[in-house]
Parts: sequence; structure tokens; C-alpha cells
Amino acid sequence: MSRAQVRTHLDESVDVGVKEYYFTGGEPFLNPEMVPILIDSLEYGPATVLTNGTVLKERWLEQLAAAEEASCYSLEFRISIDGFCAEQNDPIRGEGTFDRAMEGVALLNEFGFLPIVTAARSWRLEEEERVVDAFLDRLRAAGCQRPRLKILPMLRLGAEETRSSPYAASDRVTRTMLEGYDTSQFICEHSRIVSDRGVHVCPILLEMPDSLLGAKLGDADKSFALKHGACLTCYQHGAICSNPSAGYRAPSSSESTE
Ligand code: SF4
Repeated sequence: MSRAQVRTHLDESVDVGVKEYYFTGGEPFLNPEMVPILIDSLEYGPATVLTNGTVLKERWLEQLAAAEEASCYSLEFRISIDGFCAEQNDPIRGEGTFDRAMEGVALLNEFGFLPIVTAARSWRLEEEERVVDAFLDRLRAAGCQRPRLKILPMLRLGAEETRSSPYAASDRVTRTMLEGYDTSQFICEHSRIVSDRGVHVCPILLEMPDSLLGAKLGDADKSFALKHGACLTCYQHGAICSNPSAGYRAPSSSESTE
């Protein structure tokens, strides 16, 4: 989307009471207007950008650090990777992308940002402590003195459907399962995502035709049946798209990662 299109949606977001903004892609920084878009968004509220961290430039971060300094709102960076080492990440994201993402983390730290490194859990729960400790050492070596991690459950969508297995027809949230459940855990309960096609129910289902709820934010305040397999992953793991609010603690096998 262009800066002008995003500005229109930002203006509209004020009318519907939006409090926080997330920018995702693809890779948002491939949009040549991404830096001004983020600077604009800091006039409206706290902003988070989800990037692979491999294309960041010093002059962009200089401008963004200055904009955050001048704003009363914060700018967060989330660096998305697919594993806590090159051996796990690079077969999925491409040769050399893990090291380039770590360079991005180092650069963000140089400019005073504390990026949240986000990875889908591709290891067994028993291995979590060892995998995470090794990665924390790697982050500290990249200049990250206060590492922040977010570990996501694996969503069996897109390429992951082929890599692991698609959701079975029985992998669904039922009415009974929702009895007494805290539905505020679902991002679709309180958020929407805007693309160049319109307003969708959530970022997870962006490519599903039924995710499109309307052309404007004001049209998209409607309930959505949780009938996709991915909804079951949300049910099991809680608020998987929002930023973590506290430091990392290894979960027991029955806990979510939030
Ligand atoms: S995948 Fe389903 S439960 Fe999760 S946020 Fe989207 S609509 Fe809601």
C-alpha cells in the first residue's frame, strides 16, 4: 500500500478507536515508503513492524529513532526467523538469512531499539532450554544486552502445510470448547488487518477468501466463525500475534508461550 493509502486508513482508525498499529508483509521494508509510513503512524499510536531484519539500512533507522524520540508513542521491531540457528532457519528462509537477520538485530541495537526476535517452535519442548540458551548467547554476541524473544506455535498454513501436515477436518474449535474460554485471547476479538484488498479478520487467515470483511475498518466490526484449522492453534496457544509483555520463561508442556 502507498503512504497515502495507509494515511487514509490511519485517519479512519481514529474513528473506530484503534489503539495500536502493527505492520507486516511479506517484508514491509521492501515498500519504498515504509519509513515515512512508520513515521506517520507514530502520530496515531504505538507501532510495531514485523521484518525479517535482512534489508535494514542505517539511514532508515536514524530517521525512525529520531521520529520515535519526537513521538509520545513507541516503535517496536519484531525480527521474524524460522529457527534459532542457521541450520534451522536457512533451509526455510534462504542461505545466509540467519546471519543477515542477526546483523539486523545488531544494527537495531546500535540505534537504541530492543528488537523482539520471533521464531516458530520447530524443536521438541524438551529441547527448549538448550535451544533458547544457545540463542540468547548468540543474541548477546550480536550486541543485544537485553534479548527479547517470542516463540510462536507452528501454524500449518501455506508452505508449512506441505512441510508438516495440513489441519485435519477434525482440527476445529467447537462451540463446547468455547464455553468458559477467555475469547479476548483471539486476536480477531479486538483487531483487524488492512491490506490493499480491504479489511481482513486477522493476519493469519489473510489469504483465505472468507477473511475479507469489508472495504473499511468501520465495515469490519462483525463476528467471525472460528471454522479454520488455524483457529485451533490460536485456541491452544492464546494471543499468538501480539507482542510479549514480559521476559522469556520456558513453558511447561501444558502452558502457552505467552
Ligand atoms: S486464525 Fe481464527 S482464531 Fe485465530 S485470529 Fe484468525 S479468526 Fe481468530
